[in-house]
Amino acid sequence: MKQLLHFFIIALISSYSISQNLKSPSEFLGYEIGTEYSRHSQVIDYFEYVTKQMSENVILNYYGETYERRPLMYAVLSSKNNIKDIEEIRLSNLEVLNDKPKSINNKAIVWLSYSVHGNESSSTEASMQTLYYLLTKNYDLLENTIVIIDPCLNPDGRDRYANWYNQVRTMPYTSDKISKEHSEPWPGGRANHYLFDLNRDWAWLTQIESELRLKEYQRWLPHVHVDFHEQGIDEPYYFAPAAEPYHEVITKWQREFQQAIGNNNARYFDKNGWLYFTKEFFDLLYPSYGDTYPTYLGAIGMTYEQAGGGIAGLGIINSEGNNLTLVDRIEHHTVSGISTVETSSLNAEKLNNEFVKFFSYKDKKTRNYILNGDKDKINKLGEFLKKHKIDFYSTKEQKLNAFSYNENKSVSYTTKQGDIVVPTSQSRRKLVDVLFERTTKLSDSVTYDITAWSLPYVYGLNSYLTDKEVKKLDYKKNEKVNLHDKSAIAYATIWNEIGDAKFLSSLLSKNIRVRHNKKDIQTGNLYLSKGSMIIYKGDQVVENFEEILFKEAKNFNIELSSIYSGISNSGPDLGSDSVELIKNKKVAILSGNNNQNSVSSLNYGSIWHFFEQELKYPLIHLNIKDFNRISLDKFDVLIIPDGYYGSIGNERSLNKIKSWIYKGGNLIAFEDAIKIFSDKEGFSVKIKKINDSKKQEVNFENISRNNIQNYLSGAIFKIKIDETHPLAFGYGSEYYSLKTSTSTYELLDYGFNVGKIESLNNNNIIGFVGDKVKNKFKNSLVFGHERIGGGNIIYFVDNIMFRSFWENGKMFLVNSIFYIN
Ligand SMILES: [Zn+2]
Repeated sequence: MKQLLHFFIIALISSYSISQNLKSPSEFLGYEIGTEYSRHSQVIDYFEYVTKQMSENVILNYYGETYERRPLMYAVLSSKNNIKDIEEIRLSNLEVLNDKPKSINNKAIVWLSYSVHGNESSSTEASMQTLYYLLTKNYDLLENTIVIIDPCLNPDGRDRYANWYNQVRTMPYTSDKISKEHSEPWPGGRANHYLFDLNRDWAWLTQIESELRLKEYQRWLPHVHVDFHEQGIDEPYYFAPAAEPYHEVITKWQREFQQAIGNNNARYFDKNGWLYFTKEFFDLLYPSYGDTYPTYLGAIGMTYEQAGGGIAGLGIINSEGNNLTLVDRIEHHTVSGISTVETSSLNAEKLNNEFVKFFSYKDKKTRNYILNGDKDKINKLGEFLKKHKIDFYSTKEQKLNAFSYNENKSVSYTTKQGDIVVPTSQSRRKLVDVLFERTTKLSDSVTYDITAWSLPYVYGLNSYLTDKEVKKLDYKKNEKVNLHDKSAIAYATIWNEIGDAKFLSSLLSKNIRVRHNKKDIQTGNLYLSKGSMIIYKGDQVVENFEEILFKEAKNFNIELSSIYSGISNSGPDLGSDSVELIKNKKVAILSGNNNQNSVSSLNYGSIWHFFEQELKYPLIHLNIKDFNRISLDKFDVLIIPDGYYGSIGNERSLNKIKSWIYKGGNLIAFEDAIKIFSDKEGFSVKIKKINDSKKQEVNFENISRNNIQNYLSGAIFKIKIDETHPLAFGYGSEYYSLKTSTSTYELLDYGFNVGKIESLNNNNIIGFVGDKVKNKFKNSLVFGHERIGGGNIIYFVDNIMFRSFWENGKMFLVNSIFYIN
C-alpha cells in the first residue's frame, strides 16, 4: 500500500481539503483493506457512506436486484460542477445517436465494472479504494471526467465466494495451496445464481443482471469501459491492447487508444516493478463480453486481468514462490483503474470527437438485412432488438436481388408481408453488422471463443442481405385475438416456437388436458402439422376451462383455431392413437460433483434457468453424490447435463439406469454425458474415430498455431433433420446447429438419427473449423433417439442450451420431454 500512496502523492495537495474528512475503506470497514473479504452489503454500505459525505460529487443509482435479491448499483462521480449538470452532460453525450448532433459533449465518460466473475474477488474491494482515491487524491481528474463505478456486476456469485471463504479461512490465513481455503467447492463463485457466465451474456441478456445493466449502459454510453477480472495465480497482470483477432468493425482509433491506455498503465506498473503483459490473449471478437460489446457501441472496451481467482484467498504461494496477496491484487486493480481514468481525462476532447464519428451513418453505404419466417420467431427477435435499441421495420412486397444466407449466394427474392428489415442506416450500425453478418471475418483464427453467432440462425429465420433500397414501414407486433366458439369441439394451435411450449406448460399446470398429433391432419380448412396442440373440449375436467385457455392464449400471444368435427379430411381422426394426450412428466436433473463425477455447472445452470424462468415447469434437482441411493422410479425423465463422469459409467450405476429405462424411463444425455453410454453393452451410441493423418513436424514456437488445425471453438453447421420424428416436431428438414465440441459419434445402428451431418461443403459451415478436424463431422450424429425396452434415451451431441441464447434449439429439449414416450 505504501507504494500506492507514494504514487498518488503528487495529486494529493490540490484536493487535500476535500479528502481530510472522508474515511478510507479501511477506516470505514474497521480492517485494513485486503486483510478480510468484504461482504457485498458492506461494499454497498461504504458507497452509501461516501455518497452521504460527498453528495455534491457522487450519485448512487440502484438499478434492480439479482435473482437472490441483492441490490445492483453503480455510483456516478465527478466534480461538483459536473454533478450539478449531470443530466445535461448525459443527454448531450447521447446526441451522438442523432445523425446531426445538436451539441458535442466535452467530458470523458469512463465506466469501471468490477467482479462480473464473483470469485475474481479482488476487484470489488478495489472498487472501494478507487472510489476513495478518485474523490480525494485524484480529484483533479474529475474536472473533465465522469466516472461510473459498478462495484459488483455479479453480487450473488461474489457473495457465494466471499461468504464461503469467510467460513472456512484459517486465522491467520494459510498461503499453502493445499489448504482447504484454496479449494472452492462446486460450482464456485464465478457465475451468477443460475450459474451463467455473465461475461458471455452482454449481448444475449438471458440473465436479469445483464438485462438491467444494459438499460443503464444505454443511458450513458461511456467512452471507455473496463471489465476487471482475475486469471491464474502464476500470471502477471494483463491490460490493453487486446490480442488479435479484432473484429473488422473496430476502428483505427479504438485500436490506437487501447495502446495509449496500455502505455500509461505500463508507466505506473514499471515504476512499481510489477510485471504485466499485453496483446497475447483475450481477443476482441465474440460480441457478448464486457470488452467487445462496449467496443461495438463505440467505447474503448477492455479486459484487465490480475493474478488470483477462486484459488487465491487472502494469500497463496504461487509457482514462482511468491506470496500473492489480496492486498497486492487490490492495489494493482486500483492503479490500473485510476491510470485509465487519467488517460481518458487527458484525451477527453479526442474521445468525444471520435465517439461522434463512430456513430455517424451519413454518407455511409446502407445495407439492409431482411428476415423472413415464423411470425412468433420474428416477434421474439424484435424484443431482442428493442433491448439493444436497434431499429427495425416492417416492409411490403418488393422484388430485389439479395444475398441469401441459406444458399450462400445472390438470389432474386420478393419480400413478404411479415418480413422485417434491419438497416445499417442507424447509429448502432456496427452492432447491427456484428450481430447479423453471416460469417465473421477473422484477422486471426486463434480466438478465445465461438466464431459464429449470426442472429438469423439463432432465431431460426431466413435471412437476406441487400444494398438495394427496401421499403420501410413502422413495425407492428401481430397481436392475436381469439374468440370463444360454441360450435367448436376442440381448439388447436401449431407447435414451432418457445412461446408454444410456455403455453403448454401453463395449461398443464392448470390441469387442462392437451393432445398432440403425431401425423399431419387436415380438418375442415385447418391444417395441423405434426406436434400441434389440440385442446379437446370433451377431455376437460376443469370448470371454466375455456376462460383459462383464452386467458393463457392471450398471455402467450397464441392463435387458437377451431375444430368442428372429430373426423379429419386427411390424417388421423381426433380419437386416433396418433392424437396422444400429453402427460405431465416428472423431470429430474443431476447436479453437483463428487470424487469421480462432475456435472458441468454451465450446462446444468442453463437447463435449470430454462425450466424455472422460461418454461416455468417443475424440475427436481438431484445431487450426484446421492446417485446410488436415489430411486429413479419416482421420475419419468432424467436429464444428465454435460460433464465429466467416472463412476456413473460403472457397471452398477449403468445397470441401475438401464433397468429404469427398460421400465419406461426417458433419459436425456447432453454432450459428454453421452460418453457414459458410448460403446457400452445395451446402447448403440459409439464414439467416432478418425484415422490420424501423419504427424507433421512443427517448430516449437508454432505449436499453438499448428494446433488450430485440430480446433473448433464454436461454429454453425447445417444439419439434416428427420422432421417426421417427434423429437423434431415443429422443425423443418434443415437446422443450423451451434457446435462447440469436437466430440463426435457414429450414426446409430439401432435408433433414430434425428439430426445428422451429411455433407460437408463450405456452404454448410459458418465460422472457423480447423482443417484437420473438419472431416470428423461428416456422417456424424447430432441428435439421436434410441428405444430401450419400454423407455428411451435421447442424445444431444450439440449443446442446444449453450449460454441459453440459441433460441431455435430449445424446442428440441421440450420435445424430448413431452413428445417422446
Ligand atoms: Zn473473469
